[in-house]
Amino acid sequence: MQDSAVGSVSGATTYVCASVCAKLCAKVGMLIGTLLSITACSPQASNPTLNAAAQPQRPNIVVLFADDMGYGDLSSYGHPYIRTPEIDELARQGQRWTDFYVASSVCSPSRGALLTGRLPVRTGIYGNAIRVYFPDEPWGMPSSEVTLAEALQDRGYKTGMFGKWHLGDGPDALPTRHGFDEWFGVPYSNDMNWVGEPDFEALVKLSMSGDVEKQAMYYARRSAKYAEPKESYWEAPLITSRKAAGEYVDTIEQPAAQSTLTKRYTEEAIKFINKSGTNPFFLYVPYTMPHTPLFRSPEFEGKSLGGRYGDVVEEIDWSVGAIQDALKKAGVLENTLVVFSSDNGPWLKMHEEGGRAGLLRHGKGTTYEGGMRVPTVFSWPGTLPSGVVSEIGSTLDLFATVMALTKMPEDAAVTSGVDGFDLTATLLEKTASPRQEMPFYRGGSLYAYRKGPWKMHFITEGAYDEGEKRTKHNIPQLYHLLRDPSERFDVAEKYPEVMADLLAAAADHQQSVDIQPPLFDRRLMPR
Ligand code: MG
Repeated sequence: MQDSAVGSVSGATTYVCASVCAKLCAKVGMLIGTLLSITACSPQASNPTLNAAAQPQRPNIVVLFADDMGYGDLSSYGHPYIRTPEIDELARQGQRWTDFYVASSVCSPSRGALLTGRLPVRTGIYGNAIRVYFPDEPWGMPSSEVTLAEALQDRGYKTGMFGKWHLGDGPDALPTRHGFDEWFGVPYSNDMNWVGEPDFEALVKLSMSGDVEKQAMYYARRSAKYAEPKESYWEAPLITSRKAAGEYVDTIEQPAAQSTLTKRYTEEAIKFINKSGTNPFFLYVPYTMPHTPLFRSPEFEGKSLGGRYGDVVEEIDWSVGAIQDALKKAGVLENTLVVFSSDNGPWLKMHEEGGRAGLLRHGKGTTYEGGMRVPTVFSWPGTLPSGVVSEIGSTLDLFATVMALTKMPEDAAVTSGVDGFDLTATLLEKTASPRQEMPFYRGGSLYAYRKGPWKMHFITEGAYDEGEKRTKHNIPQLYHLLRDPSERFDVAEKYPEVMADLLAAAADHQQSVDIQPPLFDRRLMPR
């Protein structure tokens, strides 16, 4: 099938932090545990900006989120041919994180986790049979979820989103119904509106029919179109959405010229910055690219040494620079936290049209490092000390971190985002990250678990239906990620104590999660 904690100083935050710290302290030793509990988990210690005199203004928050960009696709992350001077500069004067994760190796669950600070298995925004949302989706982003945009709206922020949503295309699921004042973008992936090809429902029927020959024919034809993309092969809808006089107004342009998307998102983002004035704002730019099919503006055609994929990444780099310039011109650069990241690893099956995860193993769709560790840069001139950070962080933590950074004494407690940690102290003072552990889920199953430098695989599997078959390991695999970032050498037999420790940590984690039924799979149930 095709592709396709809370930062407030609230009682709830303290509870989450304290319980995690208690577990850590018991397991990693008194000294380290004590240090962590003081430097990382104490809400007061973790948020130096709470001092109103030092930081009287609420900072603007800008999240720039590439689609399917691999860990190795930026010059600052080691790509030899793709030139990304703007993101590299952001990393040079800000922070380049080496161990930053998304909560899922595919689009929709990853995006849901970023916006809610909750694991996909906790929100239900995932699937076991269907891995992402498809067009005409009846069960998009649940209204019960509190998004980062909603939480920031409550604090007086203007909120704008310019780019790909992929959390349901039903009227109640769209971004303007979940905290964004305005949205300009595509509702799902750019390869979901094929012209002259079977749609989602037809593919499901075909898949259930067992007609393997016909399926192979369709997929071969699609592969050829991905490899030599033309705009006429797809008809992505581009939606402009806002609320006027109490009513939602959604205007659809279809088809949208895909080669214009990165540029138009950028232009709309800059307009949003300029009209926000002195009002604090949350700007979310989830680029449609470099998810295949790859399209770029004419001025980027053939620009990169790295082929069409390189052109597309270099246009995103241009966009990051243009948004930085706009922040500078608006006089708000030094009061703005900018985060650049990617929603999952590279789509390796696309060959030259997909990216690379550098020295990390595998890519999109898997729970290997290449699927879920993503290039991530934080920048806030004058506030963040610069450097390379090799602490563990996750998009799950952005909710908590942003809530902490934007909190004023009058703000109500926030109880959302329970799967994240407040990374403020790590960002501002380079202390140890409060996140010492990371679960790796595929659908509703825990495939792997990281604690400190160690990662344990309970189940391994290739992406989609390709490559390595699903294998459950009676003796889990164990890798030391610092010494072996490519997950090549299983050292389980050598470290029985580490094995016991990680098994216990993963079991504790599993006990803490009440797994919800997968929303995506509801489409396969009889209605
Ligand atoms: Mg993606």
